[in-house]
Amino acid sequence: MPQPNLASPYYRALRTALAARDLALADLCPDGDVVARRVLHDYGAMFVGAANILPPPVCVCTSEQQVDQFQKAAGWTATNIGDATVELQPAAMSALLRARATAQHEGLNITPRDGAEAGRRSYADTVRLWNSRFLPALAHWLKVGRLTQEQVARLRTLPINEQVAEVLELETEGIFFSKDLSKSVLYSIAAPGTSQHVAMLAFDVNEFLDARVREIMATAGWFQTVLSDLPHFTFLGLEEAELPSRGLKPVAVNGQTFWIPDVV
Ligand SMILES: [Zn+2]
Repeated sequence: MPQPNLASPYYRALRTALAARDLALADLCPDGDVVARRVLHDYGAMFVGAANILPPPVCVCTSEQQVDQFQKAAGWTATNIGDATVELQPAAMSALLRARATAQHEGLNITPRDGAEAGRRSYADTVRLWNSRFLPALAHWLKVGRLTQEQVARLRTLPINEQVAEVLELETEGIFFSKDLSKSVLYSIAAPGTSQHVAMLAFDVNEFLDARVREIMATAGWFQTVLSDLPHFTFLGLEEAELPSRGLKPVAVNGQTFWIPDVV
């Protein structure tokens, strides 16, 4: 993990955004916490969004209680789309419904991927998703002899935040925990308690391959901000032209534009 450049555009924008909430960087993301720092760099766009959204007070929530408390403070609204009940922060929801109406007016659609999980998730949801990657990967690396029975037994009993730290460490040695075991688990799912879905500011879209759908989402303040998570959109509530001044930089992957924290 490279040292964060605190003079980079993202860190400058982040300090301004946090100051408006009476928070310091160390509150959000403690010094020396490798997992929190990694989460900030990979998922941090939501912390520099518009003033009408509330991002979590920490990079990594470590309990159901902490997530509940944050979600109650931020508030959310629910809408049925098809069979799914989608829940999002109010500003995110009204922008989504606006985008959906525009899409439908043009004969397109914007629908949730994987049902209710497309929107708000609980802490328990993120732990379940983590285990869906973590446990099969442990079994695989044990079978091929890269991990011992003792290592696997110890990893399974660690508190979840220590599990994440050790997994990221193992990944530096090529022992990967994504679904196909070829890349970091964080490109597959979020670490427990860290998801933009926990923040109720993310929505996974079935129609993400349609360039016009992406354009409509962007016009409504919804952008792709997590590299390689293709269906995943983040509500920032900003216009695209404002994003560079919030410390985000555009990165093109497969013809799609991702706005990610510029931490260099
Ligand atoms: Zn997502």
